Amino acid sequence: MKRSTLTFIPLSNDLGKIRFFGTLMPALLLLKQAPGQFIRHQIRRRLTPRMGVEAYIQQYADDFGQLDDLWIFVHRWHTTTFDPLAFARAHTFLAQLGRLLRREGYEAEPLDPLSPTVNLPQLAIRAGLGNASPYGLLTHPIFGPRLILSGMRTNHPLQLRPRWGGGGCTDCMACLKLCPQKPLETLEVNLGLCQTCAICFAVCPTGKGRRARAALAEIGRDAF
Ligand code: SF4
Ligand code: SF4
Repeated sequence: MKRSTLTFIPLSNDLGKIRFFGTLMPALLLLKQAPGQFIRHQIRRRLTPRMGVEAYIQQYADDFGQLDDLWIFVHRWHTTTFDPLAFARAHTFLAQLGRLLRREGYEAEPLDPLSPTVNLPQLAIRAGLGNASPYGLLTHPIFGPRLILSGMRTNHPLQLRPRWGGGGCTDCMACLKLCPQKPLETLEVNLGLCQTCAICFAVCPTGKGRRARAALAEIGRDAF
């Protein structure tokens, strides 16, 4: 079966609901699972780091790319199951980077993960950060689909190029075979019926091998 035969029914076209699932829901999950981390991030995002813009990006973004005035950032999950801390890290990152840019006199318009105003996965693919999973999400060559994206519109002159080249999704179809919605039989994935089990993310083999471990070690990050 070709992925082009699948129909995707979006969760909602309601921008308020999209923003809820991208911001408030992960925050509530994190508050429930790790209240200490939640509070630490709430404090950290109000502070301005003592470093320059480029050093900050190199240290705190796992990967990055650029399309014109839009910087796109990859924040990998630190677990193979859903990682609400990745959302907290992305929001803290955007808040602190915005402060640094404005302090240096540049414009800074942050784009949240799941921003309703842009399709960050499609833009990330165009910026060379990976390719599309059958679900239309970014599959990164080192992190697989276990990531979230954020963005920043700015007039800062720094040019961001992805750290790693190459594809990500190999079309193995494991994510579709194991999805409880049985998309290989129904030829449909309804995100409104998604059970948020994250099986489709956990089973993906991309980002679990030796290449991924070596790449993470190169930039001083731990594997899972
Ligand atoms: S999270 Fe679970 S139900 Fe939702 S698309 Fe992935 S595998 Fe299917
Ligand atoms: S599980 Fe297979 S088909 Fe699904 S995103 Fe990963 S490589 Fe692609």
